[in-house]
Amino acid sequence: MAAGTARWDLPVKKRIAILGSTGSIGRSALDVVRLCPERFDVVALCARSDCGLLADQAREFRPEAVALSDASAAARLTNQGLSAEILPGEEGVAELASRPVDVALCAMVGAAGLTPILNAIDAGSNVALANKEPLVMAGELIMERARAKGVKVLPVDSEHSAIFQCLHGHDPDEIHKVYLTASGGPFYRTPRSELQDVTPAQATKHPTWDMGPKISVDSATLMNKGLELIEAMHLFDRPMDSFEIVIHPQSIVHGLVEFTDGGILAHMGVTDMKLPIQFALTWPERVKYAIAKLNLATMGALTFAAPDFSEFPCLGLAMDAARLGGTAPAVLNGGNEEAVAAFCQARIPFTRIPEIVEATLRSADAPKDATLKNVLAADADARRKANEKIDAAGVKIS
Ligand code: MG
Repeated sequence: MAAGTARWDLPVKKRIAILGSTGSIGRSALDVVRLCPERFDVVALCARSDCGLLADQAREFRPEAVALSDASAAARLTNQGLSAEILPGEEGVAELASRPVDVALCAMVGAAGLTPILNAIDAGSNVALANKEPLVMAGELIMERARAKGVKVLPVDSEHSAIFQCLHGHDPDEIHKVYLTASGGPFYRTPRSELQDVTPAQATKHPTWDMGPKISVDSATLMNKGLELIEAMHLFDRPMDSFEIVIHPQSIVHGLVEFTDGGILAHMGVTDMKLPIQFALTWPERVKYAIAKLNLATMGALTFAAPDFSEFPCLGLAMDAARLGGTAPAVLNGGNEEAVAAFCQARIPFTRIPEIVEATLRSADAPKDATLKNVLAADADARRKANEKIDAAGVKIS
């Protein structure tokens, strides 16, 4: 390039915030930034408690600010010589999310992501959403607020990213059905009688995806697919009966859309979360950096089967909560988060997870309108009731 020539051909760098930077999605997102550093400025990072990794990330990406929701972990960051402003505690996370960026990648785990997501939308930031629980709890609220603010909610969940891409440019009236694919998780072919003794280590070993512990356990119970169904209803503003769940153990086809004329568009890709993360961060453009490519000649057979969900009650519970509407999905989610945490701590067996969720749903008050106040109250009540049932179950398993 001649001296003085403007580099007008270079892309404008997007300012991005990564909320949940030390988790599985956050680490993959930073790998995407490493692949195309000329596209992104990482201006904010936030994590729950992993101050060591957050400090390493801050040294490499030099964000303007970092936040840790665990205030004592944040205190340990202060003597690390970081140039970034350090925002401690839940308030620090909320403050960080309130600072406008081009895209805020929301990849926190569980209901804890709800307030930061709403803050990011209120700040006018587009949201790349990997954190499905807030959408399950308060999907209408999140989507309505995003519409009012004129910001985009871009799906990062692989199935939803695929469906988003298949739906693009098509008239909603021409869409007959949307297929949500499910791998079936690690126990799809395991007899129910053998599930009693499943350990947290077995449940978090997914056959096709490398993910964090909460979503891995949800995949093993198939609750993940139920949460994804509710997530899809909100993201794509479609009723439950316009979706169909199909078992696809290879996890190569991530989503399909059937049109009124019978034609089906499918999205295929490697099982690597960097692909949907990169798509959400660079949207509406696609970049040339290949994460990894499918080799069609060697990938083998792709199979699809109708699900037999009788062995996995969590999917039906999620559909019940979706039908009830209002605050019921928040109750489902709160009960599930507590049951999964108890299982991961070896306080309840795997097969108790759906029982705790069902008992929590049954003992909840009648669903109310899903206002933020009602959702937060329903979530807190569900967690309290779930923990009563977990404590009543009370047997520590080895
Ligand atoms: Mg998914």
